[in-house]
Amino acid sequence: MPAPVSAMILAGGQAARMGGQDKGLIALGDRPMVEHVIRAIAPQVEHLAISANRNHARYAKFGYPIIDDESIGHQGPLAGIAAGLGWSPTEHLLIVPCDTPLLPSDLPARLLAALGEGDLAVVHDGERLQATHALVRRRCLPSLQRFMAGGGRKVDQWYAELDQHVIDCSDQRALFINVNTPMERDSMEQQLNSTAGDCGHDVPSLSVEQALRHMLDAVSPITGYRQLALRSALGQILAKPVTASAAVPANDNSAMDGYAVRTADAALPALKLIGSAFAGHPFTSTLDAGECVRIMTGGVIPTGADAVVMQERATHENETVVINQWPAPGENIRRAGEDLQAGDIILPAGRRITAADLGLIASTGQAEVTTWRPLRVAFFSTGDELRSLGEVLTAGQIYDSNRYTLYGMLTNLQVEIIDRGVVKDDETALTHALDECAADADVVLTSGGVSVGEADYMVKLLRAYGEPHFWSIAMKPGRPLTFGRYREAWYFGLPGNPVSAMATFSQMVAPTLRKLAGAGQPWQAPRFYMPCLSALKKKPGRQEFQRGRIITTETGERAVESVGRQGSGILRSMSEANCFIVLPADADDVPAGSQVEVEPFTLT
Ligand code: AMP
Ligand code: MG
Repeated sequence: MPAPVSAMILAGGQAARMGGQDKGLIALGDRPMVEHVIRAIAPQVEHLAISANRNHARYAKFGYPIIDDESIGHQGPLAGIAAGLGWSPTEHLLIVPCDTPLLPSDLPARLLAALGEGDLAVVHDGERLQATHALVRRRCLPSLQRFMAGGGRKVDQWYAELDQHVIDCSDQRALFINVNTPMERDSMEQQLNSTAGDCGHDVPSLSVEQALRHMLDAVSPITGYRQLALRSALGQILAKPVTASAAVPANDNSAMDGYAVRTADAALPALKLIGSAFAGHPFTSTLDAGECVRIMTGGVIPTGADAVVMQERATHENETVVINQWPAPGENIRRAGEDLQAGDIILPAGRRITAADLGLIASTGQAEVTTWRPLRVAFFSTGDELRSLGEVLTAGQIYDSNRYTLYGMLTNLQVEIIDRGVVKDDETALTHALDECAADADVVLTSGGVSVGEADYMVKLLRAYGEPHFWSIAMKPGRPLTFGRYREAWYFGLPGNPVSAMATFSQMVAPTLRKLAGAGQPWQAPRFYMPCLSALKKKPGRQEFQRGRIITTETGERAVESVGRQGSGILRSMSEANCFIVLPADADDVPAGSQVEVEPFTLT
């Protein structure tokens, strides 16, 4: 049953952060943004209209009256509300913006029930007043006209003049998420596309893959590079490709210990030994008909020779060598440039330098490389219960372990770390810490305080000073993850549970940090299938990252076994494991002996 109210969808805004596009008409999934709002609200009200100032024909297609507020001479929501109150066929008018596509299915009824005899019921989502989600009495129009005529523009200032009822909708906060930027649009689109929420969370869940794709699309690599001595470049990322300055090897040389010969002499019964060519000690004159040279592996092939015969296939007495089995022309010769040609790109920009790469670069004679400067990551743990090492625990307190697991994983990623310690669940302290970190680092990383219903400060502060994108991820362990910008820095808010923090970091944060640090290829951890010796418990719904150990069985085969208890607070499971057993979202219990997908730990 619809509530006895009318609704006005406010679509007349400027959408500055969408480049001035008409926001209501921007596509979100398979339909314009405003259509999501229409679908959510139309069944809940008796009448519906749209306040729009342009593209009237396109709005008219939805079949509801279009009310133009331009004549009122005010841009902004107040003009739309005034137009709505002038139009409303019922005593109560619900106003909603065109950019909150997830709206609750009991919005007008809830506001109406809470309004009583008041003028206005307005949503508070637990973090802030949602001033454009409100139910207003028609009798308020003269007051609004006076307020606007006096130059008033702010919705909440006008509300303050009324008998205003603020309604606590913090239980539905996620449903009031609005879309202001192209990035938020993408994030919302992914939420809408993904599987519906699970386990009682009303934020729809994103898959790990969707969340990661969003994060990778959002960030661009840092700039700024430095020149490093070769050894110091291990683990760093090349900013410029490395090219071979000369051919490697520089000369034709022998692949065997033996004799350098001329295959044209194959008919001769014996050859005359005229000298030797050892690695680093070339033979300096020319080989003539009937002559050979003793040569060792790596020795430069003398001028005139065209093959090397293995020493096992020749007999040597004094100055005479008899070849028992002749090689083909070119046999046992490693050609100049066989490994690298001068000018070859041997390592591309974006490559993380490995031990093999150090050798490869050294083989070209280069002592320095150009790498990106290291990514700077500042992090802190949040939680009133946390104590640092060295402090004494009182009841209910625990030692902060996330700062240590994160330190380890960040170090393995070769980023520069700024450790900002433990910060209390206190808005002022958190703002101060975030400000400091964002000023000093490219990335701010925190753990704790991001669960739904408790996302309190982090999301709130991101809203105030940056731009949050937060989701519920359909993964276990680790559901809440906040990502976004805080001032000039990227921000990642990890869940507090120690295993969840490590799992979300390894699956989503680390690949994004790699891209930020300049890595050319998106990171992909190795994964493969193997038999699982343990039976695994699993409910369909979320992708699971259970902790396992790859072992060799008594019969010499490789298999994986569970490390046992899988709670998200049991850090020991991460320490005992050497891999994640990755179970797909829709999987059920896994019987022992099944093939499972395994991802060896790369960061722990
Ligand atoms: P939160 O995400 O803040 O709700 O924390 C979830 C759980 O993880 C709680 O039991 C916290 O005590 C615990 N936790 C949060 N941060 C840390 C940390 N830095 N080290 C160890 N445990 C933590
Ligand atoms: Mg906490």
